[in-house]
Formats: sequence, structure tokens, C-alpha cells
Amino acid sequence: MIDRYSRQILFPEIGEEGQRRLGNSRVVIVGCGALGTIIATSLVRAGVGKVRIIDRDFIEYHNLQRQVLFDEDDIRNQLPKAIAAEQHLKRVNSSVEIEGVVADVNYTNIERLVTGADLILDGLDNLETRFLINDVSLKHKIPWVYGGAVSSSGMTISIIPDETPCFRCVSASPTGRGIALTCDTAGVISPAPFIIGSLQTAEAMKILVGAEEINRDLIIIDVWKGEFSRFKIGRRADCPACRGEYEFLEARFGTRTTSLCGQNAVQVLNPRVRSISLEDLAAQLKLVGRVTYNEFMLRFVVDAQEMFIFPDGRAIVKNTADESLARGLYAKYIGA
Ligand SMILES: [Zn+2]
Repeated sequence: MIDRYSRQILFPEIGEEGQRRLGNSRVVIVGCGALGTIIATSLVRAGVGKVRIIDRDFIEYHNLQRQVLFDEDDIRNQLPKAIAAEQHLKRVNSSVEIEGVVADVNYTNIERLVTGADLILDGLDNLETRFLINDVSLKHKIPWVYGGAVSSSGMTISIIPDETPCFRCVSASPTGRGIALTCDTAGVISPAPFIIGSLQTAEAMKILVGAEEINRDLIIIDVWKGEFSRFKIGRRADCPACRGEYEFLEARFGTRTTSLCGQNAVQVLNPRVRSISLEDLAAQLKLVGRVTYNEFMLRFVVDAQEMFIFPDGRAIVKNTADESLARGLYAKYIGA
């Protein structure tokens, strides 16, 4: 084991004590796209003790350009990202406890999903869930590392509860421009998320070994222009989250439908459904359309509509941005 990490232990800021701390650490990676795959592969190789990878999506061909853990077999096998990541990474480092969780992170499950974590890493593509992570981080005093990338640019900052400004402080700042762009159709080239994911990984290592050199500035990069900038961020006096008002976490209304940015798809969540038998559903749906399924996901095609249904009752309706149409199809074919 020492040999596996020897080059990292030679780095004095880690050393044997730092390696031991990494091995005793638990991290949660929320979102396993370009950022998440870079972070996950780096931290598993670095020997972090426990890594939980949470993602709600399945793999498509347009992911392979930048999501380094996945391959064409994963698509043919219709694997969710969290499961494919777990399978690949277990072959990389069998001494790490790796758990892929296929779930949509929301206010009803986030506290359970991050219980016991020493650190949360952001591999998300949407702001709403980041604000939710921010709330749970402050409430439970778990540090987190924000990262976002779109087009040729990206940004990152570490959020340490009670020490640094929080994400709501950052996103309200004028230098926080571009954060909303993470959910854009502007496209993305792989070096942007690779660099941001790598910076997040370095922050994770520093936080987990207890280093002093945590990044408290907002770092913004542009790989096409070759620019690298840092901005000092202050705590907002009127920040609700810093005052202990966790508005996103305490929201008592769940988003029933979510338009998935850039994908021309709508996700439907039904809080009343806890689990669905895909086998039973397949038997029902093959009477009206084409069905393929495995234990993780069911794909259903009827007329011009394509739906993916997951065992937790969640559905993704493809080729539409119309949330009411998606809700209607859910009601029509899945019921409940
Ligand atoms: Zn704040």
C-alpha cells in the first residue's frame, strides 16, 4: 500500500501522516459528469478511504468527449453514471470503499446522503442543488469545494463553514459572474472542467490532510485565452445561509418537474413513489411500446416519445422541454 502511494508520500505536504489522514477520510462527490469523473478518479487513486459518488443520470455518447471514466460499453450496457464510475474505479483501487448512488439529490435526501462525510465535492451542473449543498454544509459543518465549468472557462472556491464566505455570499458578489453559465447550452471543451476538477481535487487533499493553504479566493480560468484570475470574496452581511437560515434545505416543496439543461429533456419526480419494479413496469409497457431494461433503468419508446424510468420512481422524458407534457406522460404510462 505504501508503494502505491510512494510518490505522493514523498511530497512533504502530504507525507505518511497526510496519507494516513486521506485513508481515514470520507468524501461525497455530488454529480459525476466531467468534473465529477476527474475528481473521483483522482481521489480514488490518491487513496481516500471512502468515496460516495452520487449522480442521477445515465451515460450518452455526447458525455464521452469529456467524462473520463466512461466508455462505449457503459452506453451499450445502459449504465447509470454512478454505477459505471463505481465499477471502473473499483478496478483502479480495490482498497478504497467506493459507493455509486443513483439518485437525484434534493432537500428530502441530501442530509442522509452526506451523513458522516468529511468533505463534499461539487460536480453538479445546476445552481439550485449547489445552494442546497451550501445549506447542508453550513448546517452540519462539512466543508465543500465548489466547481463549475462551461465553454472554455471555469471557476472554483472552497467553502469552510464558520471560516470562509459561503456560496450564497460568493454568488451574490459581482465577481461571481458566469456562475449561472454552468447551466447553458454554450458547449464545453474538456480542458476547462479538467483543470477545475483538478483544482478541486487539490483543495480536497489540502482540506483532508489539514493543510493551511486552503484556497479562499474565487479562482476563474479561461483555457482558450490562457487566463487565470483570483478574486477576494467577502462575507455578505445579509447572507441568509451565513445567518443560519437554510432556505433551500428547509423548502417543503419538491420540484416535481425539472427541465434538464442542454439535454432537451424533463425529469419527473414523484415524492409519493418510493420504488418501482422495473420488471412489472416492463411487462405493462411492452403492450404499448418498445421496452428495454436492466436492474438500473428502463427505456420506453412510444410514438415519438422516449422515456427512461428508474427504480426510485423517477423518470426522464427525452426530446421535450415541456414540463406539463412530461408530467402527463408520467401519469399516463407510470400512473401514481
Ligand atoms: Zn453566506
